[in-house]
Amino acid sequence: EGAGSQKDRVVTEEEWLQKWEKGNIGFHKEQGHPLLQKYLDVLLNGRSGLRIFFPLCGKAVEMKWLADMGHSVVGVEVSEQALKEFFAEHNLPYCEEPVPEISGAKKLQSTSGNISLYCCSIYDLSSSIVGKFDGVWDRGALVAVNPCDRERYVSLMTTLMEKNSSYLLVTVSYDPNKHKGPPFYVPEFEIKSLFG
Ligand code: SAH
Repeated sequence: EGAGSQKDRVVTEEEWLQKWEKGNIGFHKEQGHPLLQKYLDVLLNGRSGLRIFFPLCGKAVEMKWLADMGHSVVGVEVSEQALKEFFAEHNLPYCEEPVPEISGAKKLQSTSGNISLYCCSIYDLSSSIVGKFDGVWDRGALVAVNPCDRERYVSLMTTLMEKNSSYLLVTVSYDPNKHKGPPFYVPEFEIKSLFG
């Protein structure tokens, strides 16, 4: 059966919000992800002052790391609680503004201006709203997307990338019959066919 056992599973936005409310956020890594440190050079490729995108960002501490290195960080997350916790836990002042193009969406931006976090669904974004990116850190994002939305997610991500951008993708390898996800198991052949 393999990954087929997960293909019809759907986690709703409401369920994600509840995970944040109840503190069921085992995916959050307080110390940040060792693979970003390991592959930082691949992401940056000798460049500075990049625009880096964090899809389904949660309160990933790596956003602070990259901002502190002088890059400009943009994230998107449905849970406003997650975004507020991010700014609070790093003692970063921020301001909030509506996003005119997306009804109900908000942008939370650090006062220093280098971290902009959109509170809405990633599917509401487009390059005309957020621009294009030089780098993407995809950890807990493709693997958190509902399997039925993977193609839509990847085609959107493709439209948000500059020509010479780098995309770091973290996936998890396990027997999909033993765990219902998320994180979902996305086999390597599927990643190849999604990103082409
Ligand atoms: N990338 C983060 C969070 C991973 S968990 C990290 O590494 O810690 C996945 C996150 O995606 C959750 O915080 C969830 O609230 C958010 N999410 C789920 N569906 C989303 C969607 N359609 N648009 C934006 N955020 C979403």
